[in-house]
Amino acid sequence: MKDTPKHQGLRNQLAIVLKAKGIVDENVLNAVRKIPRHLFIDSSFESHAYQDKAFPIAAEQTISMPYTVAFQSQTLAIVSGEKILEIGTGSGYQTAVLLELKAEVYTIERQRELFKKTSLFLPKLGYKPKKFIFGDGYIGLKEKAPFDKIIVTAGAPYVPNPLLAQLKIGGKLLIPVGDKTQIMTLFTRKSAKEFEKEELGDFAFVPMLEEKN
Ligand code: SAH
Repeated sequence: MKDTPKHQGLRNQLAIVLKAKGIVDENVLNAVRKIPRHLFIDSSFESHAYQDKAFPIAAEQTISMPYTVAFQSQTLAIVSGEKILEIGTGSGYQTAVLLELKAEVYTIERQRELFKKTSLFLPKLGYKPKKFIFGDGYIGLKEKAPFDKIIVTAGAPYVPNPLLAQLKIGGKLLIPVGDKTQIMTLFTRKSAKEFEKEELGDFAFVPMLEEKN
């Protein structure tokens, strides 16, 4: 596992690209400048790591585009110490960004291979979520609820009710909703029963799947 001044230079460039696309949160940009994304993908594809694109990882899944990760992180406006539930650990890159923002992170992955790989890899880089969970994101994590923020990093055909139910009052759920492409949707819990809904544009994610393998 190597990180070099060349990689640092490429990360600084990537942050400039993200800024041009509308990412203004300096904490998010600093996380992008810091996290060695090339170590999250197969080393033979290292040259792609700092382009703003999604890329295949194991188990037919993808590491999300840097812009998408930055957009979701910025939209959630994470404050140090907040308790966050992430659905779709994948490569762990988004998890690392949340940890750089000093969140307390619980992260769920349904693919066993990715769950195993990432739960070994992230701590080696110094990124330690509160918990890696092998399980189904549709049911959330009731025993650790309520959460300040919930982030879904796979395309959901519908909004799972348990995720809304596991938000604090004032908490936010950010979820891409749709089949082929998704509308990034932000729910804010106003009271026990009221949620405000905002739609934040089109994105493309791998599907959020039901049932474990
Ligand atoms: N945040 C990740 C994105 C990975 S893609 C990254 O930046 O690398 C989405 C991930 O969601 C995949 O790893 C996929 O296996 C996982 N996923 C799909 N359906 C899920 C479900 N129901 N529960 C938990 N994870 C799920």
